[in-house]
Amino acid sequence: MIPYGHQSIDESDEAAVLAVLRSEFLTQGPAVRKFEEALALGCEAPHAVAVSNGTAALHLACLALGVGAGDRVWTSPNTFVASANCARYCGADVDFVDIDSETLNMSPAALADKLLAARREHRLPKVVIPVHFAGRPCDMDAIAALGREFGFRIIEDASHALGAVCGDSPVGSCHLSDIATTSFHPVKIITTGEGGALTTRNAELAEHLSLLRSHGITRDPARMTAETEGPWFYEQLELGFNCRMSDIQAALGESQLRRLPAFVVRRRALAKRYRARLADFPVRMPTMDGEEASSVHLFVIRVEARRRRAVFESLRAAGIGVNVHYIPVHLQPYYRRLGFRPGQFPEAERYYAEAITLPLYPGMRDADQDTVIEALAEALA
Ligand SMILES: *Cc1c(COP(=O)(O)O)cnc(C)c1O
Repeated sequence: MIPYGHQSIDESDEAAVLAVLRSEFLTQGPAVRKFEEALALGCEAPHAVAVSNGTAALHLACLALGVGAGDRVWTSPNTFVASANCARYCGADVDFVDIDSETLNMSPAALADKLLAARREHRLPKVVIPVHFAGRPCDMDAIAALGREFGFRIIEDASHALGAVCGDSPVGSCHLSDIATTSFHPVKIITTGEGGALTTRNAELAEHLSLLRSHGITRDPARMTAETEGPWFYEQLELGFNCRMSDIQAALGESQLRRLPAFVVRRRALAKRYRARLADFPVRMPTMDGEEASSVHLFVIRVEARRRRAVFESLRAAGIGVNVHYIPVHLQPYYRRLGFRPGQFPEAERYYAEAITLPLYPGMRDADQDTVIEALAEALA
């Protein structure tokens, strides 16, 4: 089976992990700090906080922005459930903003309309979570302008978009958001096995995120409410969690981060090759416009809805590990129980009915891609 996504692990990654295994600290050692510094540098953000996974990153981001019961958080329906669940963990109400049919990202026009209606009803969101779907950056200029006008904070879900470029800066630089989160699951752009991270330009937010990551505990006398009672002393300042990343994971992450530019170059080359070779196929591809800036986490095509299932099954039968990203989140039984129903976000639903994700990962050889293309030609015949 040619998978839809796959990690790329080389000897430098193996050596980095082995070095930690032979060192003093498997967790809470120096590797996490080093990885965070490298990540902050790469994202051109002053602060990075590494955590146990991308979902934890989203959860802590919501908490750090003060999301709680009665607040509203809006995200895209075309995403993994975690982009919405993070707000539910905090007791907030979730709502969705439909996507743009070309970019497949949250539509700034739909967002503006929904904000105007919400203002009339005094139901404005506290936080909006745009998702850089498939690695293509959202229109952050437009979303940030709406954030200033309507007074919401912004968490970028950049789980697909490490290595992408937004304006003149890397995704994660947070020039147009409060916090960006990412995931290091093996199918993502770089991996730590499980893992995630947050970046921000705000020092207070970064400090709060580090506190929440580790039980709400500080060992810094400057932050304590009382005089330290000795070298063993620590204080729990609030209710935090254990969302730490281990040093083993962080060492892998730092090594992978060095390979990120090459990963993205290969991803873009494979996307370009798909585009050229599928040009005459009866499939729709996202517009090329914007792809130069994308990290190309996914390559999604659209086929006629009535044929999608047969084409998908034919590809799977031919050993092609195609997938579908995403089942609209509001159609999940959990969200239907909260009152969502089909027809509410028609562009996301229409896209879903036609979507197939073709395999694409940095270790994919041209010959693997040719196999996928041949199988697709047969499936469509
Ligand atoms: C993968 C992913 C997440 C969750 O990341 P995990 O590391 O698997 O917890 C969140 N949002 C999006 C868009 C993702 O693709």
